[in-house]
Amino acid sequence: MTKLLYMTDSYLKEFEATITKISDDGMNVYLDRTAFFTGGGGQPHDTGMLLVKSEEYSVSKIGRDQDREYFHRVDRPLKAEIGSLIKGEIDWDRRYIIMRYHTALHILCGLIWKEFGSSVTGGNMYPNKARMDFNLADFSKERVNYIEKRVAEEIAAARDVVIKILPREEAFQIPDLIRTKINLLPPQIKEVRTVEIVGLDLQADGGTHLKNTREVGTVRIIETINKGKENKRIVIKIED
Ligand SMILES: [Zn+2]
Repeated sequence: MTKLLYMTDSYLKEFEATITKISDDGMNVYLDRTAFFTGGGGQPHDTGMLLVKSEEYSVSKIGRDQDREYFHRVDRPLKAEIGSLIKGEIDWDRRYIIMRYHTALHILCGLIWKEFGSSVTGGNMYPNKARMDFNLADFSKERVNYIEKRVAEEIAAARDVVIKILPREEAFQIPDLIRTKINLLPPQIKEVRTVEIVGLDLQADGGTHLKNTREVGTVRIIETINKGKENKRIVIKIED
């Protein structure tokens, strides 16, 4: 299995790895380790570049085959062999803005839970906006303005974001994690990665995050959508 380097270092932009497998068409490249985010939890996979024998290949997607192994899809058949060293570079501008959106969504999630006791029903992020759905009944203009103001306060509070990898049993003792449906994790998963915005939010999460909320920048709520009686969507945009 590919070691996922971003799990412990979300700021890794370049890495070296060894090719472990190449598909028959030469365009799915398997590595022993990668810094490319593989996609999941509403966060899109990374794009970027693989460099081998002074050739550059662009990576358009990270996929998963029927054996659940990750591969890097490149733009043309790779001219290299299994066992060769390869260098990877992720498209950092795209990844970093997505990280800012991901941490912004956790701020939103933490404060809406604290203030209104509403949990998240879904979410998604893109390089230019993000959305999150909440189990929330009332969605007045005043409330939306209040939420936007509170998000700005939590960003200005410069809260640290701490990532830990815990044994499953230990993670299951944390009351905050219960609401994020940690109990639905398949039994074969022995370790749980947690993302904590200190003093605000704690979730089991596989995504990439900022080190501190101050890096998020200015968040605007650009749209709210009534998806049903107890289901409201918030769409945010980072302005700077
Ligand atoms: Zn998340």
